[in-house]
Amino acid sequence: MRHNARPYLHGPETVAMARAVEAGQYGHGPQADAFERELADYLEVDDVVAVSSATMGIHLALQACGVGPGTEVIVPSQTFAATIQPIVALGAAPRFIDHAPDTLCVEPAAVREAITPATRAVVPVLYGGRPVDLNTIAPELRRRNIHIIEDAAQAFGSRRIKGLATTVYSFGPIKQLTALVGGATVPRTSEEAKALRQMRCLGITSSQADRIRTTTYTVQGPGLRGVLPDVNAAVGRVQLARFTEVAARRIALWNAYAQALRGAPGVTLVDVGSDAVPFNCVVRVPGRDRVHKVLRDRGIGVGVHYPPNHLQPAFARWTRPLPVTERAAKEILSLPFHPAMAPDDARWTAAALLEALTNEVL
Ligand SMILES: *Cc1c(COP(=O)(O)O)cnc(C)c1O
Repeated sequence: MRHNARPYLHGPETVAMARAVEAGQYGHGPQADAFERELADYLEVDDVVAVSSATMGIHLALQACGVGPGTEVIVPSQTFAATIQPIVALGAAPRFIDHAPDTLCVEPAAVREAITPATRAVVPVLYGGRPVDLNTIAPELRRRNIHIIEDAAQAFGSRRIKGLATTVYSFGPIKQLTALVGGATVPRTSEEAKALRQMRCLGITSSQADRIRTTTYTVQGPGLRGVLPDVNAAVGRVQLARFTEVAARRIALWNAYAQALRGAPGVTLVDVGSDAVPFNCVVRVPGRDRVHKVLRDRGIGVGVHYPPNHLQPAFARWTRPLPVTERAAKEILSLPFHPAMAPDDARWTAAALLEALTNEVL
């Protein structure tokens, strides 16, 4: 089976991990501190708060801006369940909205239409790595005290749009950069950074290093066990130092697919734009379920990202008709995509897709 995605390691990760194990600090320690600084340098931002996953990062960022019972969070239905579960866990209501048909990302007008007096946050999803620009409605959102928290789990390395958003990255197994599991948040302000650091450590105000020197500590507010362990940070640091190579490979692979598929009968490419380090390559095709089966039967690791959330049993209370999302959900197909693939592999896979499509299109 040609897998549709798999972790891409350079080699030194295993040694770095072993050193972190031998160093004996298994929580947030020197590796995580260094990783935060290196990420901030790379992203050209003031500060980065490492967390145990993007799911955790989204949860803490939502909680920090006051999302809880009685509030609503505007979010596309077309995303991984990890975007939605933190909203529900906090006792808030997800307000599902449609995406644009060509990008699978939300647009400012759709966000604005969904605002109610209960709206506390909007979570745009950077689908496939595509930056989402909500700056045209940012002043209005700010006036209404609505926070933008970007789910950039699929967008590490993509161009950052300067603005007012808190950004959450994932360093999960198949993301652009992996820490095996992990994530990071770019806070908007130093106050937010401080709140997130406290919340990722069970609401305790002092750092682990400070705590061992005193006889007490203060639990100031809500919190979870959400730090990025040093072992994971050590892996992330190796990956970050070699990220340029991975970014180039991902862009070359996506371009090879685009060249082979653009204009092909029956195929619509979901374009990630020129500012992305692509996470995947997604097409829309007629007869998707059959095409999916034909390709899987040939051992080609295609997938579907994602079955929409507003149709999931867990989120049935908040469902509403979303025609654009529902139509796209029947057509989207993710092609095999990982940095170890060569452009030739993409051309071969594209040919197999076109062959599988012949029956649908003719
Ligand atoms: C991977 C992913 C997440 C979750 O990231 P974790 O680090 O695994 O928690 C959230 N949203 C999207 C869009 C993702 O692709």
